[in-house]
Amino acid sequence: MSEVSVNRLVGFVRDYYRTNEFVPLHAPVFLGREKEYVADTIESTFVSSVGIYVDRFEEGVAAYTGSAKAVATVNGTAALHIALKLAGVEAGDLVVTQPLTFVATCNAIAYCNAEPVFIDVDRETLGLSGEALEAWLEEHAELDAEGVCRTRADSKVIRACVPMHTFGHPADLDTLVSVTHRWNISLVEDAAESLGSFYKGKHTGTFGALGTLSFNGNKIMTTGGGGMILASETLAARAKHLTTTAKKPHTYEYIHDELGYNYRLPNLNAALGCAQLEQLETFIEAKRALAAAYEGALTGSSLQFVKEPQDCRSNYWLNAVICENKAQRNELLKNTNQDGVMTRPIWALMNHLDMYQSCRRGDLDNAEWLEARVVNLPSSVVSKG
Ligand SMILES: *Cc1c(COP(=O)(O)O)cnc(C)c1O
Repeated sequence: MSEVSVNRLVGFVRDYYRTNEFVPLHAPVFLGREKEYVADTIESTFVSSVGIYVDRFEEGVAAYTGSAKAVATVNGTAALHIALKLAGVEAGDLVVTQPLTFVATCNAIAYCNAEPVFIDVDRETLGLSGEALEAWLEEHAELDAEGVCRTRADSKVIRACVPMHTFGHPADLDTLVSVTHRWNISLVEDAAESLGSFYKGKHTGTFGALGTLSFNGNKIMTTGGGGMILASETLAARAKHLTTTAKKPHTYEYIHDELGYNYRLPNLNAALGCAQLEQLETFIEAKRALAAAYEGALTGSSLQFVKEPQDCRSNYWLNAVICENKAQRNELLKNTNQDGVMTRPIWALMNHLDMYQSCRRGDLDNAEWLEARVVNLPSSVVSKG
């Protein structure tokens, strides 16, 4: 890429953020009632795992996403761990996912002592390809007499499928829903990056049995650290129980009826979440305006701006470009970071990490192609006023 186009991109970012200082990839913004709600938890002394903000936050997220229920957790990884357990994932099972994701997706599978199977992504969505999944299952799987999906070679159960909505862009959900349904595989969406993203008018994370969100500091809205499980009434009740050390309600006795987890979100964090949730639509408008501005600024350059898939409304959590090749990617990363504009490459593929390199996988041509080319651009919310 020429020096001119890097200069133009850096110039655009500096103009947009109206600064000559360092521009981070993604910084949280607190423009609402954050201080008021957090102070309220301190004054009430309810800063820990019980309190009105937890309930309010869960109800607010359920209403916003259209999920029957939402259960708050200490982070997004914990949400995914519990969601997989509730999907029936057991030791020795296989869980299909994409190699192009943040490591938490695979770690949650590994916490269940299950094994990820890597299937390729689509170049348009950057998410799990329903067609590649179907092709892999046709070649390697069968339904046994009980209707359980198993590998033909060694009879391992393929229990769940975890697509991830990369950078907030919804994956091809129609195909994923129908393929997983046909093969009797539980669909668990990792919607950590896609709060506020809709596929054909329906919120991501609500297409399968379970979906999960993250409110880490770098996500579209934050609770400091936190996550959420989206589920039906029944599964949500199970999720609440498991994340609350599996304690039976009792006035004073300690009765824990199974192995549980302390995965609850503190009220202190939920208070921050309630204030952030009130601003979510404003954040998304700002993100979408920034995305449109990037697209305009990059018109005619050799960098291809990643746009929302058809029939979707993406939250544009992280803006991204696809470079022509790896050399251009390296040059873009080097020059922008040198100029104090933070950019980052997409993650290394999961099958390139030590702990997941021997996992089963299909052809990963698109994932490898994207790994060599995708760069994220500064994406913090800017309030234009
Ligand atoms: C952020 C994220 C998570 C969850 O992360 P936590 O830091 O545990 O909240 C999971 N999957 C993906 C793809 C993510 O980006």
